[in-house]
Amino acid sequence: MSDYRIRTTDLMKEVMGDYFKGLGTGEKKIAWCTSVGPAELLRSFGFEVYFPENHGALLGATRTAMDHIPEAVKCGYSGHVCSYTTADIGSFLRNETPLQKHYGLKGAPRPDLIAYNTNQCREVEDWFTFYADHFNCPIVGIQPPRHLDEVTEDEVELVVRQFKKMIPALELASRQKFDIDRFKDVIRLSREATLLWQKVLKTSTAMNAPISFFDGTIHMGPIVVLRGTQVAKDYYTELLAELEDNVANGRGFLPNATKRIFWEGMPIWGKLRMMSDLFAANNAAVVASTYCSSWVFDQFDENDPWNSTARAYTEIFINRSEKAKMKMLKAWFDEYRIDGIVYHDSKTCFNNSNAKFGMPQRLSKETGVPSLVIEGDLCDLRFFSEGQSITKIETFLEQLEDVRTTY
Ligand code: SF4
Repeated sequence: MSDYRIRTTDLMKEVMGDYFKGLGTGEKKIAWCTSVGPAELLRSFGFEVYFPENHGALLGATRTAMDHIPEAVKCGYSGHVCSYTTADIGSFLRNETPLQKHYGLKGAPRPDLIAYNTNQCREVEDWFTFYADHFNCPIVGIQPPRHLDEVTEDEVELVVRQFKKMIPALELASRQKFDIDRFKDVIRLSREATLLWQKVLKTSTAMNAPISFFDGTIHMGPIVVLRGTQVAKDYYTELLAELEDNVANGRGFLPNATKRIFWEGMPIWGKLRMMSDLFAANNAAVVASTYCSSWVFDQFDENDPWNSTARAYTEIFINRSEKAKMKMLKAWFDEYRIDGIVYHDSKTCFNNSNAKFGMPQRLSKETGVPSLVIEGDLCDLRFFSEGQSITKIETFLEQLEDVRTTY
């Protein structure tokens, strides 16, 4: 087993710890936001931003989600809808969260305002409305056009109008006037951090890749919860320096890899280590994913703040048509020299599962890249059969050995 380790992980733990502890001080107004929601606009009003999805992932990774889901089911939420939603609501109702043990918080910080963007799914609107009702707090949202082949100026204009419509509620809740220069500053920081994150991911185009998909799900923490801050920019500057140095010196997480794999769909949070070990044991390096790439917003431009944010948040992979998704996947296959793709067909996230309408077959036919679909879930491990998944993955990887192109 390789003793490869990304040293910057220690800094990441510090950065995330400081972020969570900062939420509990009560010094700043708090806005809740979806993970690909309008965080830059919120930060420009001085809000500290909290992301319930990040909490959902924490419940999945700590394997506590299943304790909480039944509580949400009792309230009328189906056990078959987004397990971030049901685990998070259940955890709230039971007043039990890893935030207490790990960061000394009493629970999720009380929101002064809640904001969402349905660019990822409609579930977030239902989920966040539960809290808006509970806390009797203002809720604002963006509902962009979905599933487009191309995002044109018409869609961008519509989304810009929705962004701007939020301003009065944000002014009221923050007690601050909108300041275009502050908004531009936050976008600049967000752009710088997101481009660094993109470079971090691209270091794994190297044949001896320095960061796996599984590592990426951990190191993406700051780009999700701290984008628009200097802290996130500094963090990715340091991480990138380490990974580039590793590439230059031929250090990677799986030096003897014989296959390069793309992961499509949500992580199985409670099984990251098991999955990482399984692929490694079969000499398969999982070098890229749609999931980690979801926080690359390369359209951000502080000189065109409204149009560029509206476009960046509307053009994301999850919000696009199958045609657009296939085009993006093909480009990633080429860039990362992918030998096979594994689709995670997540039971409770229909929106981020692309294996239900024949895309794996169509894409494999067009590209020659073999595919495998495994069934599971982001948080609810009752939908994941470990034994069956191991057999399927091992068989798939063995078959890849035979068809692998030389690289
Ligand atoms: S995209 Fe999926 S996992 Fe994320 S909030 Fe929506 S339904 Fe839940």
